[in-house]
Amino acid sequence: MQTCTNTIAHHEAAHAVIMYRVAGFTGGQIAILHNDERGRLGIALHGVSDSENTEHLKAVVLSCYAGGIAQRKCDPKEGTNGCEIDDQVARKCLGWLRELNLEPYYRDQAAVLVEKHWSEISTVAEQLRNRKILDETEVETISDAVSGDPELWGLLERFRLAKK
Ligand SMILES: [Zn+2]
Repeated sequence: MQTCTNTIAHHEAAHAVIMYRVAGFTGGQIAILHNDERGRLGIALHGVSDSENTEHLKAVVLSCYAGGIAQRKCDPKEGTNGCEIDDQVARKCLGWLRELNLEPYYRDQAAVLVEKHWSEISTVAEQLRNRKILDETEVETISDAVSGDPELWGLLERFRLAKK
């Protein structure tokens, strides 16, 4: 089944925004490569190891679950399409945390975070659809602009001009 671009954009945006809100950084760029292909270049799920600190591992778990939650909020029919890798990474982190039994708790917490930051996730998703790729500075600036610092939109434009 082909997943629509809007759903993929929300899924990837949720990974990045929730990682940013929990860990304080997004961990890399997000991308939509083709119509039905996801790009997770360097995002939360990249390069996680058991040597990470506890807070980082927890942030990765929440970020992993946030993707699926956001895509189902977008389109309930999507279910867990494309979430297999996210679930694997989350389980690996929960294992390192010795908290495999807390999976339902983390899923609930991720759902609360997705609700709380939905306007940020939606705006990042919209920009991701338009631009196909967003780096971590763009994701963080958009999130902060939406959540209360509208003057950051101007800063984002200047950042983009400087990057060209
Ligand atoms: Zn994902």
